[in-house]
Amino acid sequence: MGLWTRRKFFLTSLAGSAAAGATSMLAKTPLAKGSELASGKIPTPSAASGKRPVIISSANGLHAIGHGMEVLLKGGDTLDAVVAAVTIVEDDPNDTSVGYGGLPNEDGETELDASVMHGPTRRAGSVASVRRIKNVSLLAKTVMERTNHVMIVGEGARRFAVDEGFIDASLATEKSRLAWLAWKASTSVNWRPGTDSPEWKERAAGLFDTPEKQSWRAEIEQLVAHPPTGTINCLAVNEKGEISGTTTTSGLAWKIAGRVGDSPIIGAGLYVDGEVGAAGSTGKGEENIKICGGHTIVEMMRQGKSPTEACLEALHRIARNYKNDKKRLSTFHIFFYALNVDGVYGSASLWRNTYDRSKHSSYAVHDGGEARLMECTPYFDEIGGDE
Ligand code: ASP
Repeated sequence: MGLWTRRKFFLTSLAGSAAAGATSMLAKTPLAKGSELASGKIPTPSAASGKRPVIISSANGLHAIGHGMEVLLKGGDTLDAVVAAVTIVEDDPNDTSVGYGGLPNEDGETELDASVMHGPTRRAGSVASVRRIKNVSLLAKTVMERTNHVMIVGEGARRFAVDEGFIDASLATEKSRLAWLAWKASTSVNWRPGTDSPEWKERAAGLFDTPEKQSWRAEIEQLVAHPPTGTINCLAVNEKGEISGTTTTSGLAWKIAGRVGDSPIIGAGLYVDGEVGAAGSTGKGEENIKICGGHTIVEMMRQGKSPTEACLEALHRIARNYKNDKKRLSTFHIFFYALNVDGVYGSASLWRNTYDRSKHSSYAVHDGGEARLMECTPYFDEIGGDE
């Protein structure tokens, strides 16, 4: 079903479903003129440097990694640098895939996952399924620094956070709440007006009843029709070659309560080896967990592969899990990011595009000048993934 058709479907029935997304096929049409994919506006990966310090992240960190670079330039610790960067995204109510305002689970509760690894001291910390605490990357760092554990989950993690002085507060924003209500309305007839209601014909009208809510409508309909994933992974190496990383997320929207993705799994959503480099991931965590992507990439770099080649090897293992069946693989997206201790970085994506099919998959890089987007190297040089 095309985007327009899908949207109209939702507008008239509020019944767009994730199942519809599963029928999505690889795009066969040429790219629209003027799209980023067609214009090649984003630099190609061959520009990857070997300068230090350097900080990289998934594309949604473009506006934030400069703060991490400031920490690095002042001689700060690499883990403090990456946590400073992702904290900005966790605090941002407009990023609906991370921290405050992250889209909730099917019960309407936002549950966050995060991990950190500190190369110089070879330590790790992680939290999963945490409710009501927005800065979970810092919470994962607190687990690492102040406990004898690596991973704390659920209610125990929330209580630990409160004991450590984190603020316990709702993570819902008006927009994330509305998106959840719209999703409920799309999945159950009981969560929309009945046939006796004046709003029955235009079921969405009751939800989007102010100009501000109307302005969110198209975006929310997309979120409902295609339960999004989204995360920030951030990796940094300083002048001395010390390296750290973090991954933080609200995970898959509308997930079953308690579902944990790859982000807090050490070796999957994040892995750092202080002698070799660091790697992380965004996209469908279930696929990454099955191949331990972060660890695989770091081990590939240890054996001499470049960061980009190592990311492609991880994607090869995911594709192999589906016998390279592009139709089944096209129901999801996944992206890997890698940085070695020499400051060489790279990234690869399963498909050429990002969640927005008109855009080339990209990641953010800052090596001293200004933060910029770089193209991910696609494993399949085609447009794919659920629309
Ligand atoms: N990897 C995250 C997860 O599966 C989501 C994402 O990055 O989009 O929870």
